[in-house]
Amino acid sequence: MVIIGITCKSDTKSFYLPRPYVMAVTVAGGTPLVLPHVDDTCIDELSNLLDGLLLAGGGDIHPMFYGCTDSGKLKRVDPIRDRFELTLVKRFAQTGKPILGICRGMQVLNVAFGGNLYQDVGELTDVNHWQKAPVHEPIHTITLKRGTLLHKIMGQTTLMVNSFHHQAVKTVADGFIVSALAEDGIIEAIEHPDYGFMLGVQFHPEYMYESEPFNKLFAAFVAACKR
Ligand code: MN
Repeated sequence: MVIIGITCKSDTKSFYLPRPYVMAVTVAGGTPLVLPHVDDTCIDELSNLLDGLLLAGGGDIHPMFYGCTDSGKLKRVDPIRDRFELTLVKRFAQTGKPILGICRGMQVLNVAFGGNLYQDVGELTDVNHWQKAPVHEPIHTITLKRGTLLHKIMGQTTLMVNSFHHQAVKTVADGFIVSALAEDGIIEAIEHPDYGFMLGVQFHPEYMYESEPFNKLFAAFVAACKR
């Protein structure tokens, strides 16, 4: 069994996670384990238990975690989730086991290791990064950097992706490299080349987990978790 921890959202009533994250991991051969952000004291044990960590999408990271104040463009924040995920990913990274961040999850990776974010990309770009089209419909192009882990997995240098983000990586954390850019220069993927598998994508491959080449991303992640 390959146990993949997946972080989740919460409101006052529920912890919850969109089904596609669970389906994508399951179809790729992993056993998903949803991680509610209720108790930081379990983080050491979780890091030992899990074979891989998937940081899921969600609301904005509170800017206090990257040394900024609210610019006025902030949307929904959940500092308890932020603290849990930032603590978990830093601890989990000490194990060397695979980490995949999706959307907010990529931003969590970047902030955890010292990078920061644009709090709103609306004024920076003419590309629509918050699509009204159905979730599984790609709307903008990204260019993948040759030789990166992401490029090796996807097997192509350009890709059409979906887009549901109003924030983006600004300064890339030390040790990370950019593995994909949108045509407007917005960072669409980062990875840590000295770590086995630590990859963040700004798009939502889970909504297309049955389609080429997005299925390859989950297959590669779960395969890396088996080792
Ligand atoms: Mn985008």
